[in-house]
Amino acid sequence: MHADVPARAGALLTIDLTALQQNYRRLAEQAAPARCAAVVKADAYGLGLDQVGPALAEAGANTFFVALPEEGMRLRSVLPDVTVYVLSGYFPGAEADYAEYQLRPVLNSLGDIERYRQAVENHPVPAGLHLDTGMSRLGLSRTEWLALQERPELIQGLDLRLHMSHLACAEDQDHPMNNEQLERYRQIQAFLPEIPASLANSSGLFLGPDYSFQLARPGVALYGANPTPGQPTPMQPVVRLSARILQVREIDSGESVGYGATYTADTPRRVATIAAGYADGLHRALSNTGRAWMEGYELPFLGRVSMDLITLDASNLPPALAQAGRSVDLLGPDQNVDSLAEQAGTIPYEILTNLGLRYHRQYLDHTT
Ligand SMILES: *Cc1c(COP(=O)(O)O)cnc(C)c1O
Repeated sequence: MHADVPARAGALLTIDLTALQQNYRRLAEQAAPARCAAVVKADAYGLGLDQVGPALAEAGANTFFVALPEEGMRLRSVLPDVTVYVLSGYFPGAEADYAEYQLRPVLNSLGDIERYRQAVENHPVPAGLHLDTGMSRLGLSRTEWLALQERPELIQGLDLRLHMSHLACAEDQDHPMNNEQLERYRQIQAFLPEIPASLANSSGLFLGPDYSFQLARPGVALYGANPTPGQPTPMQPVVRLSARILQVREIDSGESVGYGATYTADTPRRVATIAAGYADGLHRALSNTGRAWMEGYELPFLGRVSMDLITLDASNLPPALAQAGRSVDLLGPDQNVDSLAEQAGTIPYEILTNLGLRYHRQYLDHTT
C-alpha cells in the first residue's frame, strides 16, 4: 500500500478502506449474533467521514454513532438510508434538525426525555436512551434511573429503539469494573427488555459474548488500533503516514539539534530533517523519544519536535537511503498507531483524531 509523497506535499497519509472493511467484518463476526454498528464521531476518528462512512456501509454497517448533530448531518449527506444516533444528546433548539435529518438523539437525562416527549410530536424521530453504569459522564445517573423505575410512564409511548451504557475499563480485561458494569446493565436490561441493548465498545467486544447484547459499538478498532492491548492485535492497519526528507546533514560531536538545544551529539551523527511536525498531530511529547522508519531501519527523533519539522538520527541509515526527497514512515509496516501512541505517552485515539489536515490524503479501496 505504499506510494511516494507527492511533489508538492510534505507528507502522505494513506487510508486503506479495504483494511477498514476487513476490520468491520472481523468485529461483526466477533459481535455475532449481536449486530455491529460503527462509531464515526470526530470525522471517523480523523480518517474522513465522507470516505469512511460509505466504505463501512458497503461492508455491511447500517447503524452509525456520531457525537454531534452536525456530524450526523454530514453523515446523512453521504448515507441517506442508514440509522444514525447522536451520542451527545438532544440539543435544545436543534429538534427540527434531528427530525429533518433523521438523527436519533441518545437521551442522556430525565430532562432530555421530557424535552423529547414535548418536541417529538412536531419533530418526529426515534431515540435512544443512555444509562450510566460507571462513567459519571453522560447518561441517566443512578438516581435518575431509580426515579425512572418508579415512574415508567416517563418513557411510556416514546419511540425508543435502543438503550445503552458505556464501559470505563474495557481495554483492561481483568479490571473488576467490567463485571460490575455488566451486572448493573443487566438489571437495566431486565427492566426494559423490549428495547434493544448495547454495551460494548471495541475492547468490550473482546470481553466475552455476555457483553455484546443486541448491538456492539466499536470505533477505534475499525481504524486499526488494538482492542486487546498486551495481546496480538486482531485488526489490520488502516493508516500509513510517510513524510519527505527535506535535508540531510552531518553534525560533529558537541553540536546540538533543535529548539532548546535539548539534544547534543556525543559522537558525529547524520541528521535527517522531515516535513512534518506538531502542527500535523505529531505531538511535541515525541521530542527525543519518537521513532520513524525506512525500509526496516529505525530513525530515532533527535531534539524537539517543531511545528513543521522533525529531526531524525539517520546515522545508521545506508548513505544511499539517507537522501533528501526520500520518505520515512511514522506509521507503517514497522510501526503501528499503538506504538506511536505509546512513544507519545498517549492512546491511539488521540494519535488518530489529531492526524493533520495538511497531509496529502490518499484513499485506497478495492478499485485502486
Ligand atoms: C466513542 C464511543 C464508542 C466507541 O469506543 P471505541 O473505544 O473507540 O470502540 C462507543 N460508545 C460510546 C458511548 C462512545 O463514546
